[in-house]
Amino acid sequence: MRFDREKNCLFIGVREFCRVSCTSGDIDLRKSQIETDTDNHKILESGAGEGAEIERELELTVPFTDFNVCLRGRVDIVHPASDDGRTTLPYEVEEIKTVPPQMLGGAPAVQHTAQMRLYALMFCESRGVERICCRLTYVSPDGSKKRSFTEKHSADDLRFYLATLLEKAAFRLYDERDRILTRRASAESAKFPYPELRSGQRDLINSVYSAMKGGRRLFAQAPTGIGKTVSTLYGAIRALGDGFGSRIFYLTAKASTRREAYRAAAALAGAGLGLRTVVLFSREQCCTNPAAGPGGGSLFCNPDSCPYARGYYDRRDDVLRTLTSLYHGFSRSAIISAASSAGVCPYELSLDLAELCDIIICDYNYVFDPAVRLRRFFAEGAEGDSLLLVDEAHNLPDRARSIYSADFNTAYLSDFGTYIPSLGDKIKENAEELIKQLKKLRSYCSDNLYRNDDGSEVGYYVGREIPPGIGDSIAALGDACESYLRVNSASARAEASPAVFACSSMARLCRKWRSAADAYDDRYRTYIDISGGNILLRQYCLDPSEAVDAAMNKIRAAVFFSATLTPYDYFSEILGGGRNAEYLSLPSPFPQENLFIAAVTSVSTRYEDREKSAKRMSGVITAAVSARAGNYIVYFPSYRYLDAVYSCFTKKHPGVRVIKQTPKMSQQEKEALISFFGDDKGVLRVGFCVLGGSFSEGMDLPGDRLIGTVIAGVGLPGLSFERNLIRDYYQNKVEDGYNYAYTYPGMNRVLQAAGRVIRRPTDRGVVILADDRYAAPPYTALYPPHWKRIRRIDNIADLPQALRAFWN
Ligand code: SF4
Repeated sequence: MRFDREKNCLFIGVREFCRVSCTSGDIDLRKSQIETDTDNHKILESGAGEGAEIERELELTVPFTDFNVCLRGRVDIVHPASDDGRTTLPYEVEEIKTVPPQMLGGAPAVQHTAQMRLYALMFCESRGVERICCRLTYVSPDGSKKRSFTEKHSADDLRFYLATLLEKAAFRLYDERDRILTRRASAESAKFPYPELRSGQRDLINSVYSAMKGGRRLFAQAPTGIGKTVSTLYGAIRALGDGFGSRIFYLTAKASTRREAYRAAAALAGAGLGLRTVVLFSREQCCTNPAAGPGGGSLFCNPDSCPYARGYYDRRDDVLRTLTSLYHGFSRSAIISAASSAGVCPYELSLDLAELCDIIICDYNYVFDPAVRLRRFFAEGAEGDSLLLVDEAHNLPDRARSIYSADFNTAYLSDFGTYIPSLGDKIKENAEELIKQLKKLRSYCSDNLYRNDDGSEVGYYVGREIPPGIGDSIAALGDACESYLRVNSASARAEASPAVFACSSMARLCRKWRSAADAYDDRYRTYIDISGGNILLRQYCLDPSEAVDAAMNKIRAAVFFSATLTPYDYFSEILGGGRNAEYLSLPSPFPQENLFIAAVTSVSTRYEDREKSAKRMSGVITAAVSARAGNYIVYFPSYRYLDAVYSCFTKKHPGVRVIKQTPKMSQQEKEALISFFGDDKGVLRVGFCVLGGSFSEGMDLPGDRLIGTVIAGVGLPGLSFERNLIRDYYQNKVEDGYNYAYTYPGMNRVLQAAGRVIRRPTDRGVVILADDRYAAPPYTALYPPHWKRIRRIDNIADLPQALRAFWN
């Protein structure tokens, strides 16, 4: 939906119009249309008789109170009258939908009927036809079953029908028109929410604005302290106010960053901005149905298993009307509370609310993951002109690889097997067949198969093709699970049962596999990994650039930003930057003399040197903390090395207060680690953490809560099979394989960890890089501009004196 001020017209796709105007009924995902199946369409369209028009574009503008509404869409087939008696009228429009088999037996969905009738009207108006046949054809996913519903209408009947739908949709149409009309004035008058712009902030705002206006992609590296969140939002809001783009998507990798973005939007609202902001969370994170069981939500939410799905569409618009008349910001708790009061599903409510908002704050998945992408904004036919802000974009390469990859393994299937007795024969048969197929893959590894010291078998295989037959087995298992769920998620008790949950997880996994298989090309590798009796098969996406690029087809412009996007070519290449991408690198806004940064080059943290360098690293830490008592964090490349150095350090300094990160910490333990760093001066505390973990990014310990870090090593991801595949791929593609797989991701971790120290203009602190590799390129070439005072310390004994000079 998009209101054009100049034309005084609201443009809306037929499908979207039907969704907002059909305002009654339940949420029932068991009966949802199958979106991805285009084969049935192609087969039926190719069978249309002579003279038939396929995928005919239609448009109809009608007056609606004081503005116009323009409906746009594409009907599948227009059949002319023929001798076979198919239609007695001059034309028949046919709309085709692939639906789950059980929908073939009942009445058609109201929205589908509405779509068919509207296309018929649009065709009548375009040709001056007074009577017409309409046909809605449902096809089963495998194309074997078909059912048609036919109607005959006069153009007058259909005009009246449209008028009733317009009346039902009135709230949404007015809301969209009013929101766009007030948006410009609001965005123009919105003040920057802080009294002064920090150094670099104006550049960032202007660059974001210009990228949004010009429909380009911008990679912006802005060090900590510039105020990236509020600056990027402000720049995008100004662009939105000037009519560039339909809404802003602010994407984050973590819930904590979502909260920060919401706070920035609230600060802008406090400064007079009247735009609406919503934060989206996953179905599982929002679900309030106590019977939904582990994980919450369901692949097939339905009125039989959930009271909040029952009558959802009857109540939805009232809730939306109340919420939007009272507030401008919608956090998860606000949505859950409003949904609970109204007895509706909070997840669906958040999505419907998003359509009425200007700023949508959500996870990367909602744009990039084909399984959870917000179809209402990004599917074919949607009025897509969104502006994208991607926060912490340094996380996106690895996240994108994981989104577009998929795997199966025998251990997971064996666990699934424990639920099989209650899931029926079809699932059992297909799961067994899949295990059989996976076991056969052992033969692929025959050249690389051996036994470990403990006698267990290990082996691997890498290929460019998915082994034949396996895809069919996974598809069959996925179909069996989905069929089971559509029928058996009908009772609350069934929904809560672990077997149904396991079946739901398996169905999701099969969908992910199919999605990766559809995208599979020479950017992928297939690998098989045998280890300790488990056989894993993975479609591994090495290069997500094209998929990321394709996911943005409804995006007008995008800004990828982070404190660490170095080097630019690396991020632009992996994230599908394209030829028009621009790069902005801003200097730190903080006085450089507030940061003491040194590279201690007399220690090696290479894997083979770690055992003997633990004591020396403990000496580096002793030297680093010797000049001033306060809070320090030391970052390590692995838990093993962390433990070795921790043991040396605590033996030598039993009186120093220390804390260490451990694998799989609970939320409570994480919070305790952060609270350990109090702001009382004069107490020496040392935290031992790992690089790339939750304490090396996104953690804010301003002022005296953190006065120094020691970074042990250059941050390289551990040598691994997958990293080596990335290395080989990019060596071939850009002749820079090792750096793409190891050096650049590693240095981004180092830069993130180093960025924990100076958080405010008045902060002072030290960063010690401990590794001999910091003495030479490529590492020295990756230093950011605000490290230009870095000094090299070849002898650890020289460090305390240099630090004393800094602190004094
Ligand atoms: S409340 Fe939970 S189970 Fe009910 S419809 Fe929403 S997500 Fe589905």
